Amino acid sequence: MKHTQIPTNTSLLYDVAIIGAGIAGSLCANLLSKAGHQVCVLEKSRGTGGRAGSKRLNDEQSCDLGTPFIRSTQASTQAILAALSDIGVAQRWPQLPQKEQENDAQYYVGTPKMSALTRHWLNNIALISNTRIHHIERIKKQNEDCWQLHNDHHSKHFFAKRIVIATPAPQAAILLANTPDIDTLLLKAIQAGQTYQSQWAMWLETETSTLPAIIEATDSPLARLIKDNQKPCRTPAQERWVLQTTPEWAQKHLNKENQEITELLTKAFKEQTQLTPSACGEPHRWLLSRSQPIVENAPYLWDKQQDIGLIGDWLSQGDAEGAMLSALSLCDHLSNELSE
Ligand SMILES: Cc1cc2nc3c(=O)[nH]c(=O)nc-3n(C[C@H](O)[C@H](O)[C@H](O)COP(=O)(O)OP(=O)(O)OC[C@H]3O[C@@H](n4cnc5c(N)ncnc54)[C@H](O)[C@@H]3O)c2cc1C
Repeated sequence: MKHTQIPTNTSLLYDVAIIGAGIAGSLCANLLSKAGHQVCVLEKSRGTGGRAGSKRLNDEQSCDLGTPFIRSTQASTQAILAALSDIGVAQRWPQLPQKEQENDAQYYVGTPKMSALTRHWLNNIALISNTRIHHIERIKKQNEDCWQLHNDHHSKHFFAKRIVIATPAPQAAILLANTPDIDTLLLKAIQAGQTYQSQWAMWLETETSTLPAIIEATDSPLARLIKDNQKPCRTPAQERWVLQTTPEWAQKHLNKENQEITELLTKAFKEQTQLTPSACGEPHRWLLSRSQPIVENAPYLWDKQQDIGLIGDWLSQGDAEGAMLSALSLCDHLSNELSE
């Protein structure tokens, strides 16, 4: 689906500026926009999705190097994903290992790639990509308190009445660090930031095999091997695998050159599968891949005095569904607060 580009306006005072176009930020933007608020989303990368994004391989093909699926256990997320399935943006992935299927969870993927979900949620919303927010500042504009958001080249700024930070906790802490009167939010972000782990991921292609769609490896640099082409609505001619390392291995190999990582992961893949890759891509280092969620009364943080809040997986479950739940809860809260 093509993203409908909405002209962005650097002088406009948006009702809400959302920093981060991952699952949490994109869903939040979609819900607030549907509720009638003027929203803009600022994203440092070129594409959307964050850790549920997709790597573009050519004009028609891509693969998912982050989360391979959304494991949905709650009625609220299942309803959203089922509705997306009805319009061809998501689909359930039935071919998962026994271990994954033992409970009532439903496994969804974006179609034809994971980032289709965030692209869909951000359709018709002012998305300002390739824009890393460097710092935020409380100012007065036309006698009204509001926020000014500065990009990292200090060449552009944006104005909003409210800010939702939808980034991983360490990146949220950086944005909050120089802002007075939001100590509670900053402390929570710093606390959560200490539990992040890293992972390397890469894709490779092989001849077709009868191996299962997901292999959980043991005694290997690899934690998981995922047959990306076996997800619904993928059409590569070859079998395409995504390899994800263990956090422990990633920690030891964090600063190694891509070539060395490629060699080590290809070797580990061969040991696990006895298959010989015919092609592979550059490895991707997820510096902030997963974290322990912090336990709060609600899966978001909101400062009513300063009109700023935090959402993301680190406030709820530490996974892709948690990112959705966090966005849903904050939007519920804001719709009550704004209608008061
Ligand atoms: C390798 C890997 C495997 C995973 N496996 C699973 C799994 O099996 N099951 C599962 O449920 N989850 C899994 N996850 C976790 C899942 O992907 C995340 O929980 C979920 O995608 C988090 O969404 P989010 O919106 O909270 O954050 P993110 O996806 O991190 O989105 C934050 C966004 O903010 C942007 N950003 C950050 N700082 C700034 C800034 N200053 N200015 C502008 N933009 C900024 C980032 O570029 C990013 O797009 C995995 C993740 C990885 C990396």
